[in-house]
Amino acid sequence: MYKRIKLIAKEIIDNSFPMLKEKRIFYLVIWFRFFGLSVWIPPCIRIILISTRVKKLNDSAMRGIIAHELCHQEKYLKMSTLQYMRFIAKYLFSKHARMLEEKDTDRMTIEKGYVRELYELSLISRSDTGHKRIIDNYLTPEDIKDYAIKTGKW
Ligand SMILES: [Zn+2]
Repeated sequence: MYKRIKLIAKEIIDNSFPMLKEKRIFYLVIWFRFFGLSVWIPPCIRIILISTRVKKLNDSAMRGIIAHELCHQEKYLKMSTLQYMRFIAKYLFSKHARMLEEKDTDRMTIEKGYVRELYELSLISRSDTGHKRIIDNYLTPEDIKDYAIKTGKW
């Protein structure tokens, strides 16, 4: 699965994330409750964690996850270390901050052109009981479609 993730990530970066092309990103596949997680350890360690639970997903949904995680990484790239520390503190302790960040990252994923992939992923994660507690942090399938239509990406 590691190879599959690296290949998909490389293709997405080449097509849609010019800022990340020169950056080294480590991909780790481990078991955890949700699908993906992005971490930056300033100044230059960038990690995308992908859950082994993702194995069962098709390429399209997998691309949705990876595009979403790469959006987090591009957002981190635009922060100073201090800004990022403040961001992490808020993200860890405020449910509201987590919701703002995840919905904003979903919108960015749509703007990058991965709306079908994100839509498919949202249908899957909504039917997955392991996601019940965090699902409100993300756009619903209807939100995704609405935002994509509004921005001419549907
Ligand atoms: Zn996220």
